[in-house]
Amino acid sequence: MSKEQSYYDILKIEKSADQKAIKKAYRKLIIKWHPDKNNNSKESEEKFKKISEAYEVLSDEKKRNIYNKYGKDGLKQKGYEFDPGDIGNIFKQFFKGSGGSPFGGFGGFDEEEQSDEPEDIQTLYEATLEEAFSGETVKTSIKRQTKCKKCSGSGSKSGVTTKCSECKGKGIVHRLIQLGPGMFTKQSMSCDKCNGNKFTVKADDICNECKGQGIFSESHTIEFSIPRGVVPERQPVEINGEGNEGPYGRSNVIIFIRYKKHPVFTEVDYPELGTQIELDLAESICGFQKIIKLIDGEKYLLETTEPIIPGKNYIIKNKGMVMYNDQDKRGNIHVKFTVNTKSFDIIKNKRKELWEMLTDEPFDTNKNPDKKFEKLILSNVKNEHSTHSDHDDHSGQPQECCIQ
Ligand SMILES: [Zn+2]
Ligand SMILES: [Zn+2]
Repeated sequence: MSKEQSYYDILKIEKSADQKAIKKAYRKLIIKWHPDKNNNSKESEEKFKKISEAYEVLSDEKKRNIYNKYGKDGLKQKGYEFDPGDIGNIFKQFFKGSGGSPFGGFGGFDEEEQSDEPEDIQTLYEATLEEAFSGETVKTSIKRQTKCKKCSGSGSKSGVTTKCSECKGKGIVHRLIQLGPGMFTKQSMSCDKCNGNKFTVKADDICNECKGQGIFSESHTIEFSIPRGVVPERQPVEINGEGNEGPYGRSNVIIFIRYKKHPVFTEVDYPELGTQIELDLAESICGFQKIIKLIDGEKYLLETTEPIIPGKNYIIKNKGMVMYNDQDKRGNIHVKFTVNTKSFDIIKNKRKELWEMLTDEPFDTNKNPDKKFEKLILSNVKNEHSTHSDHDDHSGQPQECCIQ
């Protein structure tokens, strides 16, 4: 065999591992080796790529079979070549829960045997831009399972339980569901007899605290630090031992972080931010001074003596989100200016003066001597049926215009 690591070695699983074990191994490794969590080091990028490739093949039984028999070359011959460009897709697909959101939980973990280890809890935290900027310590509430203290999770007063006879202690049963004539599918569902608890308790021995369930669902508050300059939706924070309680302790909580909608700044493309500033016409022509508060909590003076062209892109350099990988650097703020119509009425009455000031020419509304052309009328979209013929009446209207 070649000295190259096998896909099984990369995921650190047995060759006989089932899909659940494969998913579990993949999940653990990508959280550990995600480049965003490892300062984008070359090593983590390489590892991440390898892990994704291994998962892509082993999570697909068809590809896995080919790989088991003929190795990587076999896959290549069948046209299954790994495209590193797909990594993002594999990642997204994997994190896509039943709700369709990347934060809906890990889909497809319900099949086959459940191990005694409780599932990790995935949760979403919406951080304000300010919290993400300063890397604040925040609190979030989760629902988690906790063992009944009275019966230590057994569900019975005496502590005696029997393996459920219906599901053979697996907590899950399989049923054949008919989809159509001659078409069946196997579906796993929670065992009715033991409610998925894997064990049953004699009727007169049921713990009256938890009614034989052994486990309670409780709200729990977790305090955690947002990584300063966290990359939204890509950098989960893992808190060990605060999740669901199982026989040997608690599972982990994985917190995904998203940016909350901000009243002033928008997310453009991490670490860039966007914002919109409204100007009076005078400000847009003559320049302005404005005090603005940025996500670092400081107030700044934004000043320009140049005319502003609405619709053009302007940036304020290095005042956007701090960069997780380089804490001394910040993204830019992209500014879009809009001009309000407050002063348009004044202009209407001063057209002559304005025109002469701006052009050094006399103001003449009728200077086109050639009358042989048909006159086009520019009208306000909101006022489409306007019958005004003097197009000058509409000059300076800020609304969208069309030519009739
Ligand atoms: Zn059962
Ligand atoms: Zn109990």
